[in-house]
Amino acid sequence: HPEWFALQPDGTRSDQLCTTNPDVLDSAVAVVSRYFDTRPDAPMYSLSPNDNDDFCQCERCRAFDTEIGVNPVGANGSYTDRLVYFFNQIAERLEDDHPDKQLAFYAYINHTAPPETVKPHRMLLPVACHTPWDYCQNHAIDDPNCRRNARFAATMQGWEKLTDETYVYDYYGSFAWFGPMGIVHAIRRDLPWLHAHGVTGFNSETHANWWSQGLNWYVASKLFWDLDADVDQIVTDWFTHLYGPAAPQMTAFWAMYEDTAQNTPYNRDAERGWVMSMDREFFARTDSLLNAAESAVATSSISSTDSADIRERIRKMRFADRVAQAQAPFEIFKANNGDIYPVLAAKVDPMDVLAEYDADSSLHDVMDGSLGRGSLMGAKAGLKNIRDVWDATNLSEERREEILRMLAEGADTEAARALGFITNWKVAGFFYAPTAQGLRYPFPPERELDLATSYPTSNGDIAWRDYTVENAFGVINFRDLYPDQSVNYAVAYAHAEVEYYGRKSRGTIRLGSNDGVAVWHNGELVLVSDVSRPCNPDQDRIMVPLSRGTNRFLVKVFNTQNNFKMTMRVFDDAERPIMQDTGLPE
Ligand SMILES: [Zn+2]
Ligand SMILES: [Zn+2]
Repeated sequence: HPEWFALQPDGTRSDQLCTTNPDVLDSAVAVVSRYFDTRPDAPMYSLSPNDNDDFCQCERCRAFDTEIGVNPVGANGSYTDRLVYFFNQIAERLEDDHPDKQLAFYAYINHTAPPETVKPHRMLLPVACHTPWDYCQNHAIDDPNCRRNARFAATMQGWEKLTDETYVYDYYGSFAWFGPMGIVHAIRRDLPWLHAHGVTGFNSETHANWWSQGLNWYVASKLFWDLDADVDQIVTDWFTHLYGPAAPQMTAFWAMYEDTAQNTPYNRDAERGWVMSMDREFFARTDSLLNAAESAVATSSISSTDSADIRERIRKMRFADRVAQAQAPFEIFKANNGDIYPVLAAKVDPMDVLAEYDADSSLHDVMDGSLGRGSLMGAKAGLKNIRDVWDATNLSEERREEILRMLAEGADTEAARALGFITNWKVAGFFYAPTAQGLRYPFPPERELDLATSYPTSNGDIAWRDYTVENAFGVINFRDLYPDQSVNYAVAYAHAEVEYYGRKSRGTIRLGSNDGVAVWHNGELVLVSDVSRPCNPDQDRIMVPLSRGTNRFLVKVFNTQNNFKMTMRVFDDAERPIMQDTGLPE
């Protein structure tokens, strides 16, 4: 029955369901009925969609959206109404035989928001996902300074009005950060807040991160049973029982990670932003606290068995601290072997940490093997790429020295300009098309470019605005530019004027993007790259015939989920970087 599955814009079917197909409804009712008939003690059944946004675009489903007056595509568009209507029909047909059962579903990605017009049946149980890419674990949900969590709070308040009960799915163990993760400051505020807003159930993601992130779980599991429990006392118990004579040092160690999460304005997955606060000085202090913890155990009078256990726990936390150093690769230094490189350096080499992990199976409950490997290799690849940027830029030694001075003085925009990155842009966003169509869908800026106009869209009027890059690698972070808008399946445009006075007209542009990208040079399409990737400089290189004088570049970036970035630079025929305003290499 291919017609039971969700029709995609290209005519294929995804693994989601066509929820307006009556046979799909009959089949769903039969499956859930049979489940409750054979499992009378089961309290609920999960109707959750699969983990993607590929919902049905067939004429009947789209007509249904129109009929109920909800457009699922757009900044605030969601598929929740469509799904809740489908779930309601299942509930209505089960209600007589199974009146006390619940039908649960994740409120997630493009179906997180409460429905606008469809009222949920009383048997429905939404489980709202506090994802780290749309929301924030560094700060409490009701933190007035956290704009991402303000959106989640509004979502929860919306569900609260519509359903008797709501559950939450959170991320108290990270799938991407394998250092210590101090979020007790947020958890102790969030659980009472959620309870006060109708949340009666909770589950959460974690991985094999017990020794680096387990305290979050310990505190949460106590608060689940008693929201008035004394959190300070729970934390004291944890450190006293696990670390004995080293409890004061380990408490201070953990507090550093709590503070760095609480005090950063950034979300955990805003890579550069939040790890920047963990500098060399930070890690010198964590290191000395771990040393002091070991000394405290060595000089205490506890039994040798206890002492060995505690030393082992400290060793595991030391490994987590090393993982953090490998995952926080953001410091510029000069190599001392005679070469001069501006390098975003890891405090420790991610590959060394990975080798340590592979050689010692006792570390497998500190870091998830497969996800941790991916994160560390990603950190390593990022480092290599930054060095490649330097190596792949044809500059005189004097010019390199000048750029290093700019970097040392924190003149990142000036350094980016000298490395050929475009630093002055006009940007416009976000535009939305159904699911994966964004890159191919011709939004107004590419149909008729007018930098003075604003475009009426389903996401309100979109005007061009000026943007100056503030980092040395020319990266535009679109999500930070439009923090109140969903980055899921969103499109942004960037436009730049670049002067060019090279001797020959043949030049090169190099760009990086997250995710897909299309480029027009003086109105002509020169690149379409339909990719899903993290953004690094110089991922695509294309030759373009540059005009003497002003060249106009329009760049379109299509994001699937999570990070949403772009960077671009211009070179002459001798691979020398061209400065945007002078049109010359130096
Ligand atoms: Zn359909
Ligand atoms: Zn936050």
